[in-house]
Amino acid sequence: MKITIIGTGYVGLFVGCGFSELGYDVICVDKVPEKIADLNAGKVILFEDGLDELFRKNVASGKLKFTVDTKYGVESADFIIITVGTPLHSVTKEANVKYLYAAIEEIAPYLSGYTVIANKSTVPVGTGDKLVEIIKTINPAANFDVISMPEFLREGLAIHDFFHPDRVVVGTDSMRAQDAVKKLFSPFQDKPNILFVERRSAELIKYASNAFLAVKVHYINEIADFCEKVGANVYDVAKGVGLDSRIGDKFLNPGPGYGGSCFPKDTNALVHMARHVNVNLSLVEATIAGNDARKSKMATRISDAIKDIENPKIAVWGLAFKNGTDDVRESPAIQIVQKLVSHGIKITAYDPKAMETAHSILGNSIAYADSAVDAAKDTDALAILTEWPDFKDIPLAKLQMRHKRIVDLRHMVDAHVAMNNGFDYEGIGK
Ligand code: NAD
Repeated sequence: MKITIIGTGYVGLFVGCGFSELGYDVICVDKVPEKIADLNAGKVILFEDGLDELFRKNVASGKLKFTVDTKYGVESADFIIITVGTPLHSVTKEANVKYLYAAIEEIAPYLSGYTVIANKSTVPVGTGDKLVEIIKTINPAANFDVISMPEFLREGLAIHDFFHPDRVVVGTDSMRAQDAVKKLFSPFQDKPNILFVERRSAELIKYASNAFLAVKVHYINEIADFCEKVGANVYDVAKGVGLDSRIGDKFLNPGPGYGGSCFPKDTNALVHMARHVNVNLSLVEATIAGNDARKSKMATRISDAIKDIENPKIAVWGLAFKNGTDDVRESPAIQIVQKLVSHGIKITAYDPKAMETAHSILGNSIAYADSAVDAAKDTDALAILTEWPDFKDIPLAKLQMRHKRIVDLRHMVDAHVAMNNGFDYEGIGK
């Protein structure tokens, strides 16, 4: 079975590397020539733990190829996986499917033999029907099935999640496509649980999952606010709540609000879809509003920590939206930094992996340091915004700050250790 991936961004590259590691011949296609040139020159264009090794091994064995030539990628493919972006429309807040439609128009003329077209991009319910229509109009003789195969990997753990998925959701009524999917997943050592449903249900499962997780994150953030007022400790509360197997302990970490390329986009798109058919998803709407407000609130918490200081300077640890990735899309850290900068506060930041991606958004509005310790030098407060585990191991005694103040939005520093080292410490939810 030959696999072609259309769209070599985060998801496309993880999935391409993963399937080539399982022994498939994989061609990854992308529209951006510079990206393909970098990949063909051996440069892994993004950071993810374990990706570099998979990439090098499978490029060297000839199992993994990169091209801008859609025709070349599609002609020989038995299984086409679409992983193009579906960003939020800036005004309407609906998922913008124009890149997906364009990709389908580009591949349609070159389909030959029976081909499964698996859409992994997160798309509004009913998009699969439209993709079928487009292909039939352009290439009436094509022999194909369009299936929905949403992606659930977590950035930062993407390689692990590829090889050990909790579940694989596949939306199709076609028995032939179902057989192809079963064959596709047959080389997995850890056999995934494949759930076959109708295409529209599969499309909605992705949104319903992400919205549920976003609600869970926002819920524990609100409980953290409550803990602060009543003298409880949110970390103990979360532990106690999470021990209930009906709830589970995942996504109960309070912080500066959720971000990333999926939750903000998918919650907004879901609400937009529901409104369109007069359904009120009040829980999701409240989560979106609460999460947006939380980032401003956290920026204020940081600026309040230095409000008595003239010309304050803040050190920021962490810019990625979570640890384990260089992805800064919708990162709460970036949004908080932007807010602080807009108030005239000087910032020096450090992130182990996301300096380049952050620079593409923040430019020279802040200074960048080569290490966490350097970032803190001569600053008046340290704000910890991403939960990189390395931050836990930095001895506070090494920090040469003007004022010893820490605002820890990720529970990285032990409050007692901080205070014993002479720091004013402010965390979340206790
Ligand atoms: P991305 O922006 O990193 O990558 C998309 C890529 O598609 C880009 O490189 C772009 O150049 C390419 N592209 C666009 N049109 C193309 C075309 N016609 N032909 C070939 N290439 C084309 O996006 P991403 O983060 O990889 O997400 C892709 C999709 O997967 C989105 O719908 C997203 O919601 C969904 N998703 C993402 C994640 C995640 O963790 N990033 C997880 C699950 C689902």
